[in-house]
Amino acid sequence: MSALVDLHLHTTASDGRLTPTQLVHLLVQRGLQVVSITDHDSTEGLAQAFEAARQFPQLTLVPGVELSTDVPGNEIHLLGYYVDPENASFQDYLSTFRASRVDRAQRMVEKLRVLGVSVEWERVKELAGDGAIGRPHIAQAMVEKGYITYPQEAFERYLGRNGLAYVERPKLVPEDAVRLIKEVAGGLPVLAHPAEIQGLDQMLRRLKGAGLVGMEVHYARYSSEQREYLAQLATHHQLLPCGGSDYHAFGTPNEPQPGDLGPPLEVAEQRLRMVERRSHLPG
Ligand code: AMP
Ligand code: ZN
Ligand code: FE
Ligand code: FE
Repeated sequence: MSALVDLHLHTTASDGRLTPTQLVHLLVQRGLQVVSITDHDSTEGLAQAFEAARQFPQLTLVPGVELSTDVPGNEIHLLGYYVDPENASFQDYLSTFRASRVDRAQRMVEKLRVLGVSVEWERVKELAGDGAIGRPHIAQAMVEKGYITYPQEAFERYLGRNGLAYVERPKLVPEDAVRLIKEVAGGLPVLAHPAEIQGLDQMLRRLKGAGLVGMEVHYARYSSEQREYLAQLATHHQLLPCGGSDYHAFGTPNEPQPGDLGPPLEVAEQRLRMVERRSHLPG
């Protein structure tokens, strides 16, 4: 049976391959009831998604975002639910993050060229379109040029953290991203795909102190053992167990599909109550 809730989805507003409208139609087709679109460093897909969702009252769409943050030797992603896309200061931050993505992508393309893997910068930009540019767009250009068959292969050798063409970009530390989501954007900060994080228990303590309210547990790529372990940690730290497919429509074999896994409806409702409580706070 497939899930009714999927709180982690990407569109062409970042590195997903479906437009917000196409994604909404797929979500309805798959019988989902509560979903969140969580593009990287962007809320630009939300208006179109909400417009498309208007004719489907059975679908509740929650505005979301995904931010990448720095920890020594690695990165951690934070999801923000019910963020306010109208907040100018929040949008300033997102624009800055997207600008640093362009610079970084350009430098990665240059590194690839030196390595003899030539993709056109113009083509990479075209693939990203108006969306937040990311490594998957470079990988897609490499597929088109026949260097690789699937984007995944680009990450293994070139674009992954230890890859030959990897370039860093300036990012927030995780606590600051939690505060940005909560205090600037008025949203609920949730830790994304946490199983890979070193010293997770300690990290949860730190981020909870900054205002974290949930963590992904029902994440489609995780085994039932991993999910069981994460569920225990979430309970221990009193964090909402969220999750979803992290669907991008890459077309990779075995790519999780929307609704393959997600938290129970109950979690989506609890989350909504948290937001309502926040909006009733004085000041
Ligand atoms: P970026 O936002 O440029 O740092 O790229 C991160 C995105 O690349 C992730 O959201 C995934 O969509 C994708 N990605 C990261 N690691 C891999 C991997 N090993 N294989 C395939 N895609 C990946
Ligand atoms: Zn992505
Ligand atoms: Fe992520
Ligand atoms: Fe994601």
